[in-house]
Amino acid sequence: MSELAVENKNHQAQINEFMDKVRSRIKNQPEFVQAVLEVAESVIPLIEATPKYKKAKILERMTEPDKVFMFRVSWVDDNGEVQVNRGFRIQMNGAIGPYKGGLRFHPSVNLSILKFLAFEQVFKNALTTLPMGGGKGGSNFDPKGKSDNEIMRFCQAFMSKLCPHIGPQTDVPAGDIGVGGREIGYLFGQYKRIRNEFVGVLTGKGIEYGGSFIRPEATGYGAVYFADEMLNRKNDSFEAKTVVISGSGNVAQYALEKAVELGGKVVTLSDSGGYIYDKDGISGEKFEFIMDLKNNKRGRISEYADKYGCEYHAGKTPWEVPCDIALPCATQNELNGEDAKTLLSNGCYVIAEGANMPSTPEAVVFFRESKILFAPGKAANAGGVAVSGLEMAQNAQMHPWTREDVDSKLKSIMKSIHENCVTYGSDGDYVDYVHGANIAGFIKVADAMLAQGVV
Ligand code: NDP
Repeated sequence: MSELAVENKNHQAQINEFMDKVRSRIKNQPEFVQAVLEVAESVIPLIEATPKYKKAKILERMTEPDKVFMFRVSWVDDNGEVQVNRGFRIQMNGAIGPYKGGLRFHPSVNLSILKFLAFEQVFKNALTTLPMGGGKGGSNFDPKGKSDNEIMRFCQAFMSKLCPHIGPQTDVPAGDIGVGGREIGYLFGQYKRIRNEFVGVLTGKGIEYGGSFIRPEATGYGAVYFADEMLNRKNDSFEAKTVVISGSGNVAQYALEKAVELGGKVVTLSDSGGYIYDKDGISGEKFEFIMDLKNNKRGRISEYADKYGCEYHAGKTPWEVPCDIALPCATQNELNGEDAKTLLSNGCYVIAEGANMPSTPEAVVFFRESKILFAPGKAANAGGVAVSGLEMAQNAQMHPWTREDVDSKLKSIMKSIHENCVTYGSDGDYVDYVHGANIAGFIKVADAMLAQGVV
């Protein structure tokens, strides 16, 4: 066996040993364990080669949250019935700044999903170059079908419980699935009512009360900027490419807008009911229709197919549609190994994850082995939290920046994340962006943890 083969075998044994310990300590949290495994595979060889990380048990400490808050959220619906939900906030790692990460309102929310999101957030935030620790939170509350007043009452009840644990220097939540501008407004109003202070305790605020230009667009735009960087490195671009996007919420909408602006033709969008396939491309008036349908009317994506007479595939994901570029922008584990094979056999060669962990481990292995351009969410979707960081800076300065300022900062942050991935993920001409993102994020957080002692 060659020296390299022996080294790889040893690393695999060390990864297995570490993961066995994780699994015995953390029961019934499959999404969290999945996220830890992906990072462990990249960083354990580095830790083995760096005694200071090993001795300080950095990865063991990173996989245990700083703090977890769980609380009951009681509220009254429009029929006068008492409703009970569960609320969470995970403060995962605060080594490089105040905790930062979104709130998700979705019936599937549980400890495992929020811990995986918080863990990913730690690395993502480190990659942005801004001083932000990682956190995540939310509730199993389902916003679908609720009236505006019910949403407001739920947000007020949720914030009443969350309020003691957050603050502009402590923990600054933002939006995620089911939490957009409307919800952030109600949450902010309640925080202000309780604390009697107007501070930048949430990001994604309305532009009239301390929000930043480009925050709504940031995650989707950022994912496309990142994909464009990957393409440019290969002297390629979005021009005339067919793009498949999943989801039709915040991230998907602005990924679509930017992909079209750069010359791509976006042919799909989806929601939890199924996907639309518009061979002529979705842009202009059709894009305006989607924005109104999803953000104002809160309707279903099938209504687009009814209006424009395109294909609608109920209960399916869009990965069977031939494309050059795929942007998964809906939710975790929405693209499996079979989907990955179908995508590539149909000619797709660029995948940038707008969502968090949308590709299953089998899909990720396949993408990496195929050596296509594959950007993991923690790098590709970091634009959202980056502009949240810029919103915090503007709030602290009491001085808003222009749209152009923020967009150019977003672009340069995505460029620098890409460069960091290339630095740490290059293997000859091939860039393993998963590896690059994990290593770059890990080193920054690990060094900060080392400097701060055993805490
Ligand atoms: P939204 O709530 O705005 O949109 C979510 C979209 O995904 C909707 O189209 C929704 O369809 C669909 N979706 C949600 N759950 C499922 C499911 N189980 N199966 C199929 N479709 C589903 O959320 P965002 O656009 O903000 O978030 C999308 C992804 O991007 C998430 O993974 C999030 O963590 C990630 N992300 C978001 C950031 C942000 O700034 N908002 C930042 C970084 C990452 P339906 O309406 O039918 O449920």
